[in-house]
Amino acid sequence: MQYTERIQKLESEGAYVVLAKAKELERKGKSIIHLQIGEPDFDTPKNIIDAAIKAMQSGQTHYAPSAGVPEAREAAAEYLSKTRGITITPEQTVIMPGAKPFIYCGVTALVNEGDEVIVPNPGYPPYRSVVKFVGGKPVSLHLREESDFRFKIDEFRSLITPKTKMVIINSPGNPTGGILQMEDLEAIYFEAKKHDLWVLSDEIYSRMLYGDQKFYSIASIPGAMERTICMDGMSKTYAMTGWRLGFAAMPKKLAEYFFTLAINNFSTTTTFSQWGMIEGLRGPQDAVDKMIAEFTKRREVIINGLNAIEGITCKKPLGAFYAFPNITGTGLTSQEFADLMLEEGGVACLSGTAFGEYGEGYIRFSYANSIENINEALKRISNVLAKRKASVAK
Ligand code: PLP
Repeated sequence: MQYTERIQKLESEGAYVVLAKAKELERKGKSIIHLQIGEPDFDTPKNIIDAAIKAMQSGQTHYAPSAGVPEAREAAAEYLSKTRGITITPEQTVIMPGAKPFIYCGVTALVNEGDEVIVPNPGYPPYRSVVKFVGGKPVSLHLREESDFRFKIDEFRSLITPKTKMVIINSPGNPTGGILQMEDLEAIYFEAKKHDLWVLSDEIYSRMLYGDQKFYSIASIPGAMERTICMDGMSKTYAMTGWRLGFAAMPKKLAEYFFTLAINNFSTTTTFSQWGMIEGLRGPQDAVDKMIAEFTKRREVIINGLNAIEGITCKKPLGAFYAFPNITGTGLTSQEFADLMLEEGGVACLSGTAFGEYGEGYIRFSYANSIENINEALKRISNVLAKRKASVAK
């Protein structure tokens, strides 16, 4: 049987591959600490669950409009307007099953075969995968540790060609935890406008910030919404990964193409889930604040712990919930390090190269796990490296 060339260009995600390996080891009786997962380990706040149950019980179990339940679009528009400091109308707002479909739909609607798309590297794997799937060319912008994993604007500028159609930005970033500052966004927008580029701004970690860090959105820049998909969602902020709820603002004409893509693909996002989302966005936010406070404590533990291990250095991530340490001092490649930790230490983590070639020399640890487990993982990592050092010295 034959398969399309297109489908063979789609890539999987490292996290799923490692999860499968880790589960297999667990099945054989090995104890595994899961630091590969990109999802909060907290439960969805009760008020959100209650709202969805109530919706289900009151008959919200039928198809919703493809664009989303009108009240959910209103709530998302209200939330985006408030958090980005601009006016977003419900007509500009689309609800989808997770934030991820905005990447697929956005690239499908805007990137022609042969077009180039500038993507962060290391960066979230679906960006480059989906661009390749539609016949486009992902062009990597190297996010460097010495620049706090921000865009280096002169490098960004040098990557723009007449074929460039889109730039994808992600702040706070996965896997680096880096944040784009307003001056970065202004420079990106300046170039986007000059070269008539679309901007896909993945803002799924917009509430996951530490200390006095502030979140900036390119959507806040006057005029930017003419060429921007500003995407966010419920998965991370409200611990709702399994609910599949994302929302985005975009130009009205583009939103109409998104509805058509939805109609041809999944019809609609789950109706009663969207009632949970309305409660999440409009209801009390104390559960989110509590989660961030807990992530802040875990961040201290994991970053201090990693920096205390010989061969590893780790900058403090400014946002999201990933540590992205430099492991070059261990003498291992990223993949060797990740394999060794899983097989010998029982610590599941991701090689930086799962996020592109510029992730070499780094590992992504998710700290969506308890402090107790993080401490145990740190002990195991340290022991595995010490054992390896002793055996190499023999
Ligand atoms: N964008 C980034 C940068 C992510 O890290 C993730 C999930 O890991 C997503 C989008 C997808 O979010 P969702 O689960 O809402 O589809």
